[in-house]
Amino acid sequence: MSEKVPVALKVGPSTTELRELDLPEISADAALMKVAVAGVCGTDVSQYRLPLRAGPLVMGHENVGYLARVGKTFAAHKGVKEGDLVFLEHYLPCGHCEWDHVGEYRHCAATEWFYDPAAIRYGYTSIDIAPGLWGGFSHYLYLPLNAVLHQVPNGLTPEEAGVATPMSNGVQWALFDGGVGYGSTVLIQGPGQQGLCCVMASKQAGAARIIVTGTSKDARRLEVARALGADEVIDVEKEDALARIREITDGRGVDVVLDCTVGAGTAPTLLGIEATKRRGGTIVVQAEGSQEFPDFPIGRLTRKGMTLKSARGHSYRAVELALHQLASHRFPLQLMTTHTFGLSEVDYAIKSVGGQGAAGAIHVSVLPWK
Ligand SMILES: [Zn+2]
Ligand SMILES: [Zn+2]
Repeated sequence: MSEKVPVALKVGPSTTELRELDLPEISADAALMKVAVAGVCGTDVSQYRLPLRAGPLVMGHENVGYLARVGKTFAAHKGVKEGDLVFLEHYLPCGHCEWDHVGEYRHCAATEWFYDPAAIRYGYTSIDIAPGLWGGFSHYLYLPLNAVLHQVPNGLTPEEAGVATPMSNGVQWALFDGGVGYGSTVLIQGPGQQGLCCVMASKQAGAARIIVTGTSKDARRLEVARALGADEVIDVEKEDALARIREITDGRGVDVVLDCTVGAGTAPTLLGIEATKRRGGTIVVQAEGSQEFPDFPIGRLTRKGMTLKSARGHSYRAVELALHQLASHRFPLQLMTTHTFGLSEVDYAIKSVGGQGAAGAIHVSVLPWK
């Protein structure tokens, strides 16, 4: 009899059951990761509600853990050994396309989970695809040779490293996509974990003025935004956000807008377009897949010479910078890492991120061995 691996299995919309899967044989070109931390994000909240596209699956795509078994070829190819603490990207790229060679695995066709049912991604792949251990809400994860690993720097605990995914997105969206740098004025919409990581990335990059917007239920998160480096926070339900932004920027507007809102419709984009400076501003948006935008003010965008970009995951380099930024302990991360849950509480953990569980959740982690 093979050894068993406890997992939290999504068996239907918003339904999880504790199950056991077989621990696979680890061949020379594979490895096994003992999951220490699996972060939960807004994507989990929206995915969890959806029907299964194929068989049941183990969710959890923001994973940090220890290499428990490492095949010989895997070790030689990756430069890793058993016992290493690593951050695992959720992309499983083909390894030979133009995007993979520049560390942009998110653009590789093999990771195009949304359009290609055969594409494999951690946290989104059915257990019907052997060996089934494709999600972090599990004691172990299976790593084929094309898994993308980052060594966790010394001095960073697994739980702190669990913030690596939103922090990588913060670096990618604020710095690489938005172009935030020394002296920039930045508007960050939405003080969730992504927005807060954009605050840290912008602060670290030398932004002169960081403005964060939220709603009245975000009061605590807006306080955290301040502690992480925001200069001004605005409750859009209590104040005229555009008037306040103009006042804060002496009528000039901001250089860069980073929309990190969830389910707020088209309002943040419209505010963002108006809040940017007279010419040459940039707005980075992350619309949901099915979102439509009637009467999009493309004329305003053109007249202002603006650049519109899409926030879509992160590059290899963004993850490396994020891990080192977290390891610097420059920011009070403990204000963000609000909750941890065990494997039997995965359902509640996801609902907490969605605002329907534990109060005050910002960054939530599942510790499968808790
Ligand atoms: Zn995520
Ligand atoms: Zn590729």
